[in-house]
Amino acid sequence: MKIGVLALQGAVAEHIRSLEAAGAEAVAVKRMEELAELDGIVIPGGESTTIGKLIRKYGFLEALQDFSKQGKPLFGTCAGLIILADKIDGQDDAHLKLMDMVVARNAFGRQRESFETDLPIKGINEPIRAVFIRAPLIKEVGSSVDVLSVYNDEIVAARQGHLLACSFHPELTDDFRLHAYFVDMVKEATKTTTK
Ligand code: GLN
Repeated sequence: MKIGVLALQGAVAEHIRSLEAAGAEAVAVKRMEELAELDGIVIPGGESTTIGKLIRKYGFLEALQDFSKQGKPLFGTCAGLIILADKIDGQDDAHLKLMDMVVARNAFGRQRESFETDLPIKGINEPIRAVFIRAPLIKEVGSSVDVLSVYNDEIVAARQGHLLACSFHPELTDDFRLHAYFVDMVKEATKTTTK
C-alpha cells in the first residue's frame, strides 16, 4: 500500500512523515504518471489558487478525478479541502469538484488567522489537537457527506465515502490519528478497487 502526497505546493514533507508514522509507505508526487502506482493521495495545505493552477498546468485535474472514479481515497487538508470541493463560496468555478460541499475560504476572520484547539472527531476516540491557519470551513454538505467535526457551529471535517477533508493541519502535530484514519480508508479501498 502506497500513499502519495501531491507535491506541487504546500506542506508536503510533514504529511509524508505523518503517513509513515501511521504505518504507510508515503511518497511525494510531482507528475500525474505517478498516480498509477498509488492507492491513495493527500492534497496538502498551502494556497488553493496556486495549487489549483498547478494542478491544471501539470495535467492533474482529470487525472485526480479519474483516480477518484477508481474508488481510490483522497484526503484534502486546508487548501486541499478547497481543492476537493464542488463549490467555493463567492467564486464562479471550483477545482476537482469531487466532494458534495460548499466551502468558504479564509473563513475564520483576520483576528483569528491562526489558532489551535482540541477537536473531537467522529470515529476517533479522544479529541485531536487541531492547528488552523487561514482556514476554510465547510458551509454546506450534501446528504451523502458525513460531518466528522464541528467547531463553533461550523463544519471543519467531513467524509464522503472514499473522500476525506479537514479545515485544519493534522500534519503539524505529533498526533497521527487522523492520518491513521485515512490509512485505514485506503486499506479498506484496496480490498475493493482493481489496479
Ligand atoms: N487560505 C488558504 C486558501 O484559501 C488555505 C490556507 C492553508 O492551507 N493553510 O487557499
